[in-house]
Amino acid sequence: MENTEKIYGINGPVIYIKGKTSLSMGEMVFVGNSRLVGEVILLTADMTTIQVYEETTGLRPGDPVYGSGQPIYVTLGPGILNNIFDGIERPLASIAKESGMYIGRGVTVPSLDTEKKWPVKMKIQEGQFVAGGEILAETQETESITHRSLIPPKVSGRVIYAAPDGEYTVEETIAKVKTRNGDEVEIKLAQRWPIRVPRPYGNRFVSSRPLVTGQRILDTLFPIAKGGTAAIPGGFGTGKTMNQHQIAKWADADIIIYIGCGERGNEMTEVLEDFSKLVDPKTGNTMMNRTCLIANVSNMPVAAREASIYTGITLAEYYRDMGYHVAVMADSTSRWAEALRELSGRLEEMPAEEGFPAYLASRLSGFYERAGYIQALCGEEGSVSIIGAVSPQGGDFSEPVTQNTKRFVRCFWGLDRALAYARHFPAINWLNSYSEYVNDLAPWYAQNVSRRFVTYRNRLVTILNDESSLMEIVKLIGSDVLPDDQKLILEIARVIRVGFLQQNAFHPVDTCVPLDKQYRMMKTILFLYDKCKALIAAGIPVSIIRKEDIFEKVCNMKFDVGNDEPEKFDTYLELIDKFYGKVLKEQGKTNVD
Ligand code: ADP
Ligand code: MG
Repeated sequence: MENTEKIYGINGPVIYIKGKTSLSMGEMVFVGNSRLVGEVILLTADMTTIQVYEETTGLRPGDPVYGSGQPIYVTLGPGILNNIFDGIERPLASIAKESGMYIGRGVTVPSLDTEKKWPVKMKIQEGQFVAGGEILAETQETESITHRSLIPPKVSGRVIYAAPDGEYTVEETIAKVKTRNGDEVEIKLAQRWPIRVPRPYGNRFVSSRPLVTGQRILDTLFPIAKGGTAAIPGGFGTGKTMNQHQIAKWADADIIIYIGCGERGNEMTEVLEDFSKLVDPKTGNTMMNRTCLIANVSNMPVAAREASIYTGITLAEYYRDMGYHVAVMADSTSRWAEALRELSGRLEEMPAEEGFPAYLASRLSGFYERAGYIQALCGEEGSVSIIGAVSPQGGDFSEPVTQNTKRFVRCFWGLDRALAYARHFPAINWLNSYSEYVNDLAPWYAQNVSRRFVTYRNRLVTILNDESSLMEIVKLIGSDVLPDDQKLILEIARVIRVGFLQQNAFHPVDTCVPLDKQYRMMKTILFLYDKCKALIAAGIPVSIIRKEDIFEKVCNMKFDVGNDEPEKFDTYLELIDKFYGKVLKEQGKTNVD
């Protein structure tokens, strides 16, 4: 039964009810005659404050507010993938049908299609005892993904009814469980979960597996673990969205949840179009089959933007609990923080740094803490990795959102305006970026790629850092004064930057590169370096060595060697050997190797 209250005051997306109400903290409410969705965010003895997830124009004091008796939730079930929702999980395609082009206000469409019949294979039997999180039934949600329906986390008991295998809608009862205290719980394909409450799991582990993205600077230099967290901060046009798209397309996650938060709507349309065409090399199906988009773009209400992050992460946890590896992209967490700031301002809270509320840090940590590598209640391993874009004004990383995010993420992929301007993409600055996962992942790389992977990776990092210190000297007094071994460092660092770190997202071969190729590219560059060092030790100046075209050849191997042609790298090693012999001979030196 619904309780009706009356609006007392309206301030943008915030509305007030005076006096004692029957509503509770966090309760989902419906506001006004068109029943706009809202949530109770503050409750005192004489005032109830509600944030409304939709445009509030037209609301008037005295209009009704209906309680729902439950916290703001999402509906979990088959039909989430290959779909696009707004910040409170209303399907954008069906909303468009119901209310024309633009998302209408107060349109209450169910999150998931209630008419579609899913072919269900039951995994439990009558008489069996089940506990929360166990797999109850399976259905093929998309061509790529088997949806595992789970016993709701808080339910355990004896199965008193299990439907036969067959076709069911998300609203039909497929099982009944009698709990210890005698309650009978009906279970359907669709379940609800409050978005602000992390879903329970069995155990949490330190992850030892990387989320492989096919992007060299990430996988090799600054890897993220499955279940890990990363931030991509950068000013306008430095490539935040592009990097997020690349990861969403190519990462070896089973499921992608892409949250477009406060950014341009056409970018989400692009993702939808791109992903519907792109074929997932793992399954041969389109990428949308493993993807769910949440779009709360810049022209949509600001409060729903605040919720969209939690909606996204809850959907991610749900698939994690089925035993999948899920990657969440949030573009951009700054727009989300701005929504917090705006709402906080409306509530007349005491502002902290740059007008952001004092709870900005705890909200950010609460979000990133929902990442992790876990054993689910059903016994399977799953993970949620979070990759958040941060868009600081003017690319200034000292602002509060970037600084606070940095406290809670373990990968920092700092984008650099100068690199983007020079069209060095991805414009990730290798000097201020870092990953705290390298040590955790080293054994995996040793076992699955090469035992020298991390050693080579560390050598690249050292050369790049040495280049940076040398450039300080060069800036002051020019490069002529440098000894030849140091000039060589500058040459090789250039090969690393141009030939390895730069990666063209639009090139069919270069857009996604397997780890084995990344490894062989490093090996080739370092082999060239070692040979050049030997030449310099033999007294041959860099100016002579530099004249050879081998440097350009090595820079272009990323395009010239196909992703499935590892044997071609042997020709590069031979070429380098030949170059070495040739230079020695021409300079009249003997082999010093
Ligand atoms: P942001 O989201 O930070 O504002 P975008 O992701 O929209 O920036 O990037 C702006 C432009 O930079 C893109 O349209 C593209 O031309 C270029 N760009 C970024 N990353 C890459 C890349 N890896 N390869 C090629 N071009 C890139
Ligand atoms: Mg962007």
